[in-house]
Amino acid sequence: MSTSPAEPASFDAARIDAAVDALRPDLVEFARSLVRIPSVSGSEQDAQRAIAAKYESLGLSVDIVPSLREELESHPAFSDDAIPFVDRLNVVARWKGTGGGRSLILNGHMDVVPPGDLSKWTRDPWGGEVEGDRLYGRGACDMKCGLAAVVFAVQALQAGGVKLPGDVMLQSVIGEESGGVGTLATIVRGYRADACVILEPMNLRIAPVQTGALTFRITVNGRAAHACMKPHGVSAITEFLPIASALEHLNVDRHQRYRDPLFDDPNNIASLSLGTVHAGDWPSTVPDLLVAEGRLGVFPNESVAEARAALEATVRVVAARRAWLKDNPPVVTWVEGQFEPGTTPIGAPIVEQVATSHEEVTGTAASLFGVPCGTDLRLFTRHAGIPTVLYGPGNIIHAHAADEYISIEQVITCTKVLARTIVAWCGAGTA
Ligand SMILES: [Zn+2]
Repeated sequence: MSTSPAEPASFDAARIDAAVDALRPDLVEFARSLVRIPSVSGSEQDAQRAIAAKYESLGLSVDIVPSLREELESHPAFSDDAIPFVDRLNVVARWKGTGGGRSLILNGHMDVVPPGDLSKWTRDPWGGEVEGDRLYGRGACDMKCGLAAVVFAVQALQAGGVKLPGDVMLQSVIGEESGGVGTLATIVRGYRADACVILEPMNLRIAPVQTGALTFRITVNGRAAHACMKPHGVSAITEFLPIASALEHLNVDRHQRYRDPLFDDPNNIASLSLGTVHAGDWPSTVPDLLVAEGRLGVFPNESVAEARAALEATVRVVAARRAWLKDNPPVVTWVEGQFEPGTTPIGAPIVEQVATSHEEVTGTAASLFGVPCGTDLRLFTRHAGIPTVLYGPGNIIHAHAADEYISIEQVITCTKVLARTIVAWCGAGTA
């Protein structure tokens, strides 16, 4: 058993691991109970009340943080998810330290995406079924078991009699899947710590970097005519095709210019992808309008303005080469869902600490990587100045999918890693 010099003398890692193992049945039952409460974005409150009650049962001081439009909409990171703001409460529980230690936020989101086509499920999405090592259900992987792991890491430490100088804050937020208003509300409320771990399903890999994502709309106007008189019209579809092709090339070019070994796939870091194309209203009419929408990724070293400019310039270049589009330029607009990238340096103490704890528990070196999607990490790193990593149980390929599930063994491993991380981080003095 290894203990870093920063850990208090009373810390016994084997005892903490044993405490986690002893709590395993309770942890699984608690995670199942959360999965059984449907908490699709906008309807998170019953599940939030359940976790608040659990926090209180551990003797933590619980603060209910409402998400208030009037407090959030002027914030530069505000992303309007169009869900009414009534009764969208976040829960922050504090395990108060004895003073003088480093503080840590452990953040997770309670909202889940809808189950989708129920005929694709072989399990009840809200059943919390357990079979072998798997816990099934919407949110099992993304990310109710992560929230449960945090709760039971603290409970195991309490059972082991651990007292720490630094504060541990457990955050259960709403609205992550739809833009992050929950985490933003905690930041606006003033919650800060020396570091943060977000329990996203990273398959127990550590992600200190995320890319950003923007939503764009391109409107192309043509001129309507009967299809039998095609030469008298201008098809918005035909005019759009070279734009679509240029955007595919832009995606390839942008990836060739950006190199970062932290990302698994060098060609899929900040992807540009068309999502919807709507044009025309009659089969034998030359269409006079096309509206396309898509997602533009933002590289970690790039600003939102730079990413937007790259796409707008590409559309402009195509338009300049075409007789019709030169006089009738396509219009690019940026619609809701604007996510900045976020980065914590890989040498940051929290990255090293989670890596150390992971290695101690699993016996294998931690794997660092960058995630090619938006998460709440960006809010902490850019708007609260808090070094943050994503680290949690579950494989993201099972998230948002039918028959979503998680490996219970991985949840237990994560709980042990979190417990050690808490002790090592909050047991050390402030810098
Ligand atoms: Zn998630």
